Amino acid sequence: MSKTDASCLAADLHCDAPMKIVKGKTLTDRTSHVTISKLKKGRVALQVFACWVPPTYRRQKAIDYTLAMIAKTKSEIAKFPNDLMIVTDKASWQECLKEKKTGVLLGIEGGHALGEKAENLKMFHALGVRILTLTWNNSNKFAASGMSAGKTKKDLGLTAEGLKLVKLADSLGVMIDLSHSSEKTFWDVLKAAKRPPLASHSCARALNKKFQFRNLSDDQIKALARAGGLIGVNFYPGFLGEKRKPADINSVADQFEHMRKLAGVECLALGSDFDGIDQVPKGLEGPDRIPDLLGILEERGFAKDEIKQIALGNFIRYMGW
Ligand SMILES: [Zn+2]
Repeated sequence: MSKTDASCLAADLHCDAPMKIVKGKTLTDRTSHVTISKLKKGRVALQVFACWVPPTYRRQKAIDYTLAMIAKTKSEIAKFPNDLMIVTDKASWQECLKEKKTGVLLGIEGGHALGEKAENLKMFHALGVRILTLTWNNSNKFAASGMSAGKTKKDLGLTAEGLKLVKLADSLGVMIDLSHSSEKTFWDVLKAAKRPPLASHSCARALNKKFQFRNLSDDQIKALARAGGLIGVNFYPGFLGEKRKPADINSVADQFEHMRKLAGVECLALGSDFDGIDQVPKGLEGPDRIPDLLGILEERGFAKDEIKQIALGNFIRYMGW
């Protein structure tokens, strides 16, 4: 354990806790990756809760399910007023920091959750949603996903309704998340968006070519960094490097090393995907182990300031808080 471990607050750009909450699990359930005690132990000051809706749900059914998920997630958070609070802006984030709670930032994973109209984003923004992952593995009315484009060999990128959605997100202050997006969607959004997009839970393709549709190319990583965007490194063993078998906490550190060499430290963040993944790397089984990851980065020569940036600072700068 190094000194960094004890002093560094963290932000995690992606977890799927709402998927468990909507099914009746609580934030104290020990079988979940994300629990209040593990968030505390990991010094996670900000956790993005992504609301994911099965892709078989369409139109109004998808909207209703997302609304129910947000309502249930909020009522679960409200049961722990001393530990958790919803964060939506600079003022609520600063209050959260002062009160030493874990801030929960709401996201939506998969544009199909909005039904088929860009306008619906307004309703979700009013409920506190600040990150929108444009697609999940399925393409939708707004954009092509990496997996669909790979399967069909056809990549339509951002649609006309998708362009409307990106413009609306820009004006509302909802960050566009390009994890899961197709190659063409990625470049279309980068061209169209005023606010820099992020990839909330993605790894580097150069270290694992098996998941081309899901991992980012070196060019994409460099372009996000140039644009002032952000990459949350995903902890899913299947997306991590192929060098270490099985993938472990060091494989996650390898991702940070690769991306830093390529694009500098300012675009780097954590994007665990906890509670959305069925395997975890050895040594990084939950948010409580995040300080161990930061310790490994320090051992590998990352400066303390760089680690603080990766852990929390970059995301706060990115959000303009
Ligand atoms: Zn995902």
